[in-house]
Amino acid sequence: MSLAFIFKRSTQMGLLSFLFQPKPHEVKRPCFHCGELMRERDVLLQTFDGAAREVCCHGCAGILILIENDGMQLEYRKMRMQKA
Ligand SMILES: [Zn+2]
Repeated sequence: MSLAFIFKRSTQMGLLSFLFQPKPHEVKRPCFHCGELMRERDVLLQTFDGAAREVCCHGCAGILILIENDGMQLEYRKMRMQKA
């Protein structure tokens, strides 16, 4: 399964679930993976590295799944620390 495929699917699935939802109060939270600020109702929970992480979309969730499947959590954590 390619990353492009995951991203494409995530937009399709995302569109459906974001329709017809009540207006939330505007609390913005950063995505665990990409840092994108998201409304509270858009938050997805993805288990990664031993805890539930808040991500903005199925694309970011899919990346965390891939990283964990490949056992790359340590590298991922290092990469994030370098970026910050
Ligand atoms: Zn994200």
